[in-house]
Amino acid sequence: MRYITEFRDGKLASSIAETIKKESRRPARIMEFCGGHTISLLKYGIPDILPETIEMVAGPGCPVCVTSKSEIDAAIELAGKPDMILATFGDMIRVPGTNASLREAKARGSDVRIVYSPDDAVEIARQNRDKKIVFFAVGFETTAPVTAASIRFAKSSGMDNYFVLSAHKTTPGILGALLADEVRVDGFVCPGHVTAITGTDMYKVLTDAGKPCVVSGFEPLDIITSILMLVRQLNADSAKTEIEYSRVTKNEGNVTAQKIMENVFSPIDALWRGIGVIPGSGLKPDGRYERFDACREFGLKIKTDETETKGCICDRILRGLEKPTDCKLFKTVCTPEEPVGACMVSDEGSCSVYYRFSAGRDAVAAL
Ligand code: SF4
Repeated sequence: MRYITEFRDGKLASSIAETIKKESRRPARIMEFCGGHTISLLKYGIPDILPETIEMVAGPGCPVCVTSKSEIDAAIELAGKPDMILATFGDMIRVPGTNASLREAKARGSDVRIVYSPDDAVEIARQNRDKKIVFFAVGFETTAPVTAASIRFAKSSGMDNYFVLSAHKTTPGILGALLADEVRVDGFVCPGHVTAITGTDMYKVLTDAGKPCVVSGFEPLDIITSILMLVRQLNADSAKTEIEYSRVTKNEGNVTAQKIMENVFSPIDALWRGIGVIPGSGLKPDGRYERFDACREFGLKIKTDETETKGCICDRILRGLEKPTDCKLFKTVCTPEEPVGACMVSDEGSCSVYYRFSAGRDAVAAL
């Protein structure tokens, strides 16, 4: 199948790994920003075929993982109101808030429904005009334009019972946080799908700091090729943004999607789970669309400080300081069935990925 099989060619992957081995001249700690990349890395055993000089470390690019407890708490509070339906993606209902998850709220009687897109939530609102429907929206620039489009549709359809609790986060703000002194990263495998929307300008903060960036697709050959491109930049003391995922991503991004987001949302300060408040890194419906903001409609205030559950080191994992296997609760107390922290919930969460694919086990033989 075009764009699948040729990007999972085991022989080609091994030969690129050999080239990396030959060309890698110094130790390099490379962060894959996105949970989708972590899945491919672990599923196909890529770290096992890399030379010892290359250490891969996961980043904060799992939207479920960085949704704060306070945002979950707000969703639970809303779901508990009379005549309310709260709609969200499946992963979100299992993420622990301060005292409970949306799954527990649902078990206690709140009307919490799983949807696959904001369009499904709009349809629920259309079919339940006597109720208020809140879509609990999470995700980066890949999902925010779709939420914005749902708000525009609700407005143009005259719907007055559809609202959005926005926990959307934007990528540029977090990139600067990855340059903090204690986070030692030499280069970045950047998210292809987010960059397809935002364009590549946002990586200037990293390249200006001397960190090479390669925008990568999600198949194993995409990632291993991106690692080779980073090794070559490091060898040349270069720090620029290159695009490996050129079949999808362009430097300017998707201008139409950018305009929809700008039209509907304004930036707000957002609390990233385990990382803290990052100015201007959240989105809320504003201007002509402010009446769709669930916080405004229901008088909610999202807290801006919180602590991680005792023993959980998600905060350090999300910043690339430690790995899931460094957590004492990993695979013992904390499992995908009974997650202690957010990184064990989503399929893209680092702890969940490590749990399912235990580093190296499947190796490149699975290709
Ligand atoms: Fe948190 Fe569980 Fe991951 Fe440990 S294994 S960091 S408790 S999510």
